[in-house]
Amino acid sequence: MQNKKRPRILIVDDVPANIKMLREVLKSNYEIIFATSGPDAIALMEPKALPDLILLDIMMPDMDGYEVCRILKSDDLTAKIPIIFITSKDDEEDEIKGFELGAVDYVTKPFSIPVVKARVQTHVELKQQREILENLSSIDGLTGVPNRRNFDEFLDRNWHFCMRAGKAISLIMIDIDHFKTYNDFYGHLEGDECLKQVAAILKSCINRDTDIVARYGGEEFGCVLPVTDLKGALSIAELMRKSVEALAIPHAQSQTAGYVTISVGVASMVPMKDAPAQTIIKAADNALYAAKMSTRNCVKKGS
Ligand code: GH3
Ligand code: MG
Ligand code: MG
Repeated sequence: MQNKKRPRILIVDDVPANIKMLREVLKSNYEIIFATSGPDAIALMEPKALPDLILLDIMMPDMDGYEVCRILKSDDLTAKIPIIFITSKDDEEDEIKGFELGAVDYVTKPFSIPVVKARVQTHVELKQQREILENLSSIDGLTGVPNRRNFDEFLDRNWHFCMRAGKAISLIMIDIDHFKTYNDFYGHLEGDECLKQVAAILKSCINRDTDIVARYGGEEFGCVLPVTDLKGALSIAELMRKSVEALAIPHAQSQTAGYVTISVGVASMVPMKDAPAQTIIKAADNALYAAKMSTRNCVKKGS
């Protein structure tokens, strides 16, 4: 949602004079917060007070800007905040490294004030538009499968349909194994690519128009199978697990296998009168947890 409040910009630089200068340039249009070190910037990330954009210096003692960027991009809470690197380096390799880590832009010191202003404005607007679209849309922008909102509505509608009809409904929850280390090792862009491939293969495992695979959040997917019993759901879950394995996406850091794998939790039930749809989410989540506690790369059922 677009808020009426001024967008909040976080400036991270170990030299206070740099912060002061950027603040003067931007303060009329934005709320400015700042940090003078990487750890301080990370400590500022409160769910209710997240910045809309971060201007991040690269050369800082203790923790450099690349590391700060990597940490922020690997946390679901902060992954979507656009980061613009500010640095005196103008080496192409450094620029590429910044983009690979998920930065949206790059400005070099000494910077031109109109350029900084324009880039900040562009990326703040892009973020706001993305948020509006995400709220309106029912499709996840990265993977092209239904998003969480769509999932919640679809599950709720079919849960009540199956309740009235006295039929079983099944839910499969899927979570990529060791995906944090995948991102850490291969980079966030490769991580995004992996998510796309996994989403596409999961989608290919369902064949009824009445079923959906949706992005539940981060590296988790949910598959709703209305009018499907446990046996049917377990066979689709196992097909999903095998199909992801067969993609053979290399994952050198996985403690489970040398390639990307998923853990899968399955629940199936005839909804009891007045029970909420959360009942089946909890059951599938418990099963997924059991799969993670077991060997990963496996399917567990719960009830
Ligand atoms: P586990 O096997 O226990 O599931 O471990 P895990 O590392 O997969 O689980 P954890 O929940 O610790 O980490 C999930 C990671 O997923 C964190 C984040 O880096 C990554 N992630 C979430 N959403 C996205 C995304 O949109 N793109 C990319 N590239 N990574 C994402
Ligand atoms: Mg997860
Ligand atoms: Mg995971």
